[in-house]
Amino acid sequence: MDCIFCKIVDGSIPSRKVREDESLLAFFDVEPKAPIHILVIPKKHVASLAEAKADDEALLGRLLIAAAEIAREQQLGKGFRVVISTGAEGGQTVDHLHLHLLGGRQMHWPPG
Ligand code: 5GP
Ligand code: ZN
Repeated sequence: MDCIFCKIVDGSIPSRKVREDESLLAFFDVEPKAPIHILVIPKKHVASLAEAKADDEALLGRLLIAAAEIAREQQLGKGFRVVISTGAEGGQTVDHLHLHLLGGRQMHWPPG
């Protein structure tokens, strides 16, 4: 499958990894939108949050817990934001589920 995040998982595209276990991978975004911008992805190809199934419940929980742990490791004690862009109108550009972990600056609302 021609999926850049599956290629990051299998190592054929390099990335700056911050965490890896049997079910997920976290790495720095190549075009950071904040001083800390990390993507947390499942190793399994799930196209988007809209495609997630009841079977993925534990996996989704692990992604969120990992994001919170990574935020702590990255000294984001003052706060951070987790974003899951979903579908074309949601601004999703890579069709492999990913959480954006953003921090190190003041976030604003509403997002763009
Ligand atoms: P989306 O726009 O789908 O919410 O987020 C996709 C993110 O993946 C973007 O922030 C983009 O900068 C990042 N990205 C796209 N290609 C690569 C890549 O090859 N390596 C890394 N580390 N990030 C990527
Ligand atoms: Zn994929």
